[in-house]
Amino acid sequence: MLSCSLCNHSEEVLILSRFCTKCRKIKHYLSLFENRVYEVLDSVLSREISKQENKIDMEIKREIENKKQNLKVNKKIYGDDSKDYNK
Ligand SMILES: [Zn+2]
Repeated sequence: MLSCSLCNHSEEVLILSRFCTKCRKIKHYLSLFENRVYEVLDSVLSREISKQENKIDMEIKREIENKKQNLKVNKKIYGDDSKDYNK
């Protein structure tokens, strides 16, 4: 039985893949977000466990604020089409 090449401790039976289900998910995130995954891991996991929750909340809040800001900018550039959806 092969062990997962990334975590080395999964009890999952691996036949066709080098990675367990959880590690395949991490690989998927890496392919989608590239360096952002490393930034989040560094910024969150390098803290004490009690402070990690605060950092996660802050990161999520920042992401939401950035998306809101992008929506505002897009509305200015492309116009507000929200009225079109109410028809
Ligand atoms: Zn694994």
